[in-house]
Amino acid sequence: MSAHATTSDLTTSAAAFERAQAVIPGGVNSPVRAFGNVGGTPRFLASAHGAYVTDVDGNEYVDLVGSWGPALLGHAHPAVVEAVREAAGRGLSFGAPTVTEVELVDEIRFRVPPAEKIRLVSTGTEATMTALRLARAFTGRDLVVKFAGHYHGHVDALLAAAGSGVATLGLPDSAGVSAAVAAETIVLPYNDVAVVEAAFAEHGSRIAAVITEASPANMGVVPPMPGFNAALRRLTHSHGALLIQDEVLTGFRVGYSGWWGLEGLREGWSADLYTFGKVIGGGLPVAAVGGRRDVMAQLAPVGPVYQAGTLSGNPVATAAGLATLRLADSGVYEQVDAVAVKLRTELNAALVREGLPHTIQWAGNLFSTFFGADAARQGARDYTAVLATESWRYAPFFHSLLEAGVYAPPSPFEAWFVSAAHDDSALDRIVSALPAAAHAAATATKP
Ligand code: PLP
Repeated sequence: MSAHATTSDLTTSAAAFERAQAVIPGGVNSPVRAFGNVGGTPRFLASAHGAYVTDVDGNEYVDLVGSWGPALLGHAHPAVVEAVREAAGRGLSFGAPTVTEVELVDEIRFRVPPAEKIRLVSTGTEATMTALRLARAFTGRDLVVKFAGHYHGHVDALLAAAGSGVATLGLPDSAGVSAAVAAETIVLPYNDVAVVEAAFAEHGSRIAAVITEASPANMGVVPPMPGFNAALRRLTHSHGALLIQDEVLTGFRVGYSGWWGLEGLREGWSADLYTFGKVIGGGLPVAAVGGRRDVMAQLAPVGPVYQAGTLSGNPVATAAGLATLRLADSGVYEQVDAVAVKLRTELNAALVREGLPHTIQWAGNLFSTFFGADAARQGARDYTAVLATESWRYAPFFHSLLEAGVYAPPSPFEAWFVSAAHDDSALDRIVSALPAAAHAAATATKP
């Protein structure tokens, strides 16, 4: 007899989770999905359309996760699905170059011209890993500066004091990273120019790169203070180090030209390297590293830095990304921004009505809520401040929303992702769910 699970074993989230835990570590293939921070049973999703997701039990939710960023247009946009179908019909993977890759890269370059040359990979992790390798090869130096609470994927060198799932699980750092690798990463508090200056004063000639989330959203949304990114640009430049702006999350989500369009373009500066992901794959695995021509020329087969991928530039995935970017015009960003403003306003009103001190921090259409009097008074500008917020209020808040058919991120340390498909009826459902959720947060007791 085969040991295959039958479909009937998996028709509820509870049953599926039980089975999943028996065969997949923690029952999930990416830690934050396990609901570890908020408790309860993760919903096993069966389908997603527009602003909605439906679980295997048949419950429908308005989705505020959006696949953690890619679903800018909403789920299963008909034109994207058609592009995928069409590409799939021509073959799933060739391991040879395709025209779609060139078109996708051209679309990205058009939006962010400082990404003069671009290499496509499959995940954001690969993109940041490659960016580091390039920076080290180009500068002949070893040290890398990152900021506490920033998440750049699960690259060994970048897991120290990382955000996202690492923050969600309260892990200080990951096990399995060798001391030698960890010693090459300098972790600094975010938004403090003086500490970056001090690090350069002490180690300047050994620093290959500073990597930063262009506008951090993996410890909740903690935007850069005005001038902070420009200071990183100035300091890296004057010490011969590279600046890597990680736009895996912000790229083509917060605007037509990503965070660069909102800040660097206006202020007249650019990074040496950029990493992109999420939206550029439209829900399929595509990410990219791009930047200065002379730095990118280090990559094989032109230069000595090796990097490759069996599925890099996959024809179906690049078709999804290209279709998504071509649809993501300025009208789409206006729409997504308007949805975000409306939700922020309603969320704030619900929390104020409960008298719950809080701050809602935002960057473009990304936002998240921090509870507590300190957060309300001074905001949360770095990871230490984020960890001092009353994040224990989030679990009851989250579960109240979930019961009302609203699927918020299952962690207080993640941004809320809205989409162009969040129409009035989707918004109405969220707005009606907010009062009870705010009440649950306000009456929560510290565990
Ligand atoms: N960089 C940032 C800013 C991210 O938000 C993420 C993922 O959330 C990554 C890198 C890693 O991307 P991936 O999960 O595709 O490896």
